[in-house]
Amino acid sequence: MTVKVIHWGLGAMGGGMAKLLDTKTGVESVAAIDADPNKKGKTMAQLLGVKSQAAINDDAAEVLKTEADVVIIATGSFTREVFPQIEQAVKAKKNVICIAEEMSYPRQQEPELGEKIHQLALANNVTVLGTGINPGFVLDLLIVAMTGVCYNVTDIKASRINDLSPFGPTVMKTQGVGTTLEEFNAGVEAGTIVGHVGFPESMAMIASALGWELDEIRQTKEPIIAKKYRETPHVKVEPGMVAGCRHIAYGIKDGKTLITLIHPQQVRPENEGVETGDFIEIHGEPNINMAIQPEIPGGIGTIALAVNSIPNVINAKPGLVNMTQLPVPPALLADVRTLINK
Ligand code: NAD
Repeated sequence: MTVKVIHWGLGAMGGGMAKLLDTKTGVESVAAIDADPNKKGKTMAQLLGVKSQAAINDDAAEVLKTEADVVIIATGSFTREVFPQIEQAVKAKKNVICIAEEMSYPRQQEPELGEKIHQLALANNVTVLGTGINPGFVLDLLIVAMTGVCYNVTDIKASRINDLSPFGPTVMKTQGVGTTLEEFNAGVEAGTIVGHVGFPESMAMIASALGWELDEIRQTKEPIIAKKYRETPHVKVEPGMVAGCRHIAYGIKDGKTLITLIHPQQVRPENEGVETGDFIEIHGEPNINMAIQPEIPGGIGTIALAVNSIPNVINAKPGLVNMTQLPVPPALLADVRTLINK
């Protein structure tokens, strides 16, 4: 008996997960759901070059009749958007791994839906986990793990400085790349330039793990103005225009900032000598300084975390869980069946 996985969403992330899973032992892709007319009707083998001959279907109710241990959902970013999919998968008695950013800690922005997911998971005896590179790892789980070697922690400052150059037009628009300063400010005001999705969730994950009750999470979004010309296949940025968004979040308690998370995202950072990386400073006893250069690649990291979390989610107690509540997932190198203990 292999561990059986259904994929819901076979885009850049979900497709990558199916390909990664294809290289693993003791686990197989048994079915897939995708609404894209260019994907449905094809087999997974035809679309992705994997072994699975499962046909891609947009009839979720039908697909979810397939016997499976886990459904991996990689369709959207927001809890409200993926909730109907989670509900349907959970009612079909499947564990769920979801990479929607808000699902890394859904109770933060959608407390009612978070509680609903938890109760549904309990009633159906399955586990629901949100994961991904960020939120889900770099600016939350990794920080929490590093505090494990501390006697005490007074405050935390961490940054993920990354390169947006590989991404397409949607990311350029949501980060304001290629806009003028006026357009950037108007976009932030109107909510069309969103910056990073996931700061409240990362803050909540860190604070709840450490037992800190934050009074307030404050966020700022500033334009990164290019001094030199920058270009990608999707955008041209003249000097004086916006090359990215510096999004910062502050977790505040009793007027003191306990957590600062900094995420400047821009195209061609190397043009102006900006070195990318993931940096964590924990102030306490002892002080911890961690630097990962360059940054952990977001796509690979997200695909790997979703697949590597399969045994953890099957083994976990039922309910809604976040990444800090499960063992840290190792790379899935062993036969997956040997890692399942129920
Ligand atoms: P994508 O657009 O390449 O793929 C999404 C796929 O889902 C598409 O094939 C689409 O047809 C399918 N889909 C969407 N809604 C559907 C529905 N209701 N039913 C069936 N199929 C549906 O996107 P992606 O790059 O693969 O990313 C997926 C999501 O994951 C995005 O919202 C992204 O922001 C998020 N994400 C989170 C993290 C993280 O760190 N937590 C990292 C990467 C991506």
